[in-house]
Amino acid sequence: MKYLKKIINILLELGNDVYTNEKLKCHVSFRIGGPVRLFVVPYSLESFVKTIKLFEGNVRILGNGTNVLPKDDFMDYNILSTEKLTEIVFEKDLLVCESGLNLKRLCLYALQHGFSGFEKAYGIPGSVGGAVYMNAGAFGWETANLVEFVDVYDGNKIRRLSKSELDFSYRNSIFKKNKGLFILRVGFKIFEGDKQKIFLEMNDIIKKRVEKQPLEFPSAGSVFKRPKENFYVGSAIEKIGLKGFNIGGAMISEKHAGFIINYNNATSKDVKDIINHVKNKIYEAYKVNLETEIEIW
Ligand SMILES: Cc1cc2nc3c(=O)[nH]c(=O)nc-3n(C[C@H](O)[C@H](O)[C@H](O)COP(=O)(O)OP(=O)(O)OC[C@H]3O[C@@H](n4cnc5c(N)ncnc54)[C@H](O)[C@@H]3O)c2cc1C
Repeated sequence: MKYLKKIINILLELGNDVYTNEKLKCHVSFRIGGPVRLFVVPYSLESFVKTIKLFEGNVRILGNGTNVLPKDDFMDYNILSTEKLTEIVFEKDLLVCESGLNLKRLCLYALQHGFSGFEKAYGIPGSVGGAVYMNAGAFGWETANLVEFVDVYDGNKIRRLSKSELDFSYRNSIFKKNKGLFILRVGFKIFEGDKQKIFLEMNDIIKKRVEKQPLEFPSAGSVFKRPKENFYVGSAIEKIGLKGFNIGGAMISEKHAGFIINYNNATSKDVKDIINHVKNKIYEAYKVNLETEIEIW
């Protein structure tokens, strides 16, 4: 107890908000998840780096929490949230964003300044750090298209990694393989565009999302990665009759079978049980192994 108090005091001095036993269900889009030991919110990149150093890298980073499924019970680890790291600046001809910046805000900022390239990211509810981590994408666009560099803290020092060092591929990057790299800032290329055209495209993208996705329920978006070209998981799940399949409070969405929704106080176990059921049924029907796109913590 004394030790915990001491750590909390150090964290406060480093420029953090600190919460003990904070439930992750309050911070993730699935609205599922039990308490964690310490939930720490740094005010600045400096505090972020110092806090990682204090914990010797033994922390989990939470961006907007839109791609994770935490456990129901107590999780014996510390979370560092990037929610307050949201600065945007120009550096030469690049737009440099702190990792906690919400993609929606980034898209609106780009619209306001007449920069095109971000339109298809509009509606992806994650942070810049989360988008780089998993090379988020939609409608044929992916984050890697615009990334020029990422500033990281590697546990020892801050380094600038160029795009060629980031190992981007479909829903993948170096950050998935190397958990000791923490994303601080991301430099994006910018292209001058026509504001009216950018606005119309963003509008169109949002309409498509509202039409096709069950945005009225908590979820973490598409649960599974596309296992191969032209294999659409949502359609495949629908074809084997699993739309609306439910366990406990979790259900395969009636609107988009690639989504599992939390429609009635679902537990992490409910969602995991559905994931395993879908994996088995898809394998039986198509001899295809599905992998999750969401991270199971
Ligand atoms: C309704 C809905 C629609 C969605 N649509 C799409 C879509 O169209 N396309 C798509 O690709 N995804 C989509 N997603 C999933 C999700 O929004 C994206 O994957 C997003 O990029 C996740 O960002 P995040 O900040 O929420 O990450 P989190 O869920 O907070 O974290 C995901 C992973 O990134 C790591 N991470 C986050 N920040 C950092 C950092 N600074 N340094 C190191 N690691 C970090 C975390 O540790 C974790 O491992 C959707 C989700 C929802 C709920």
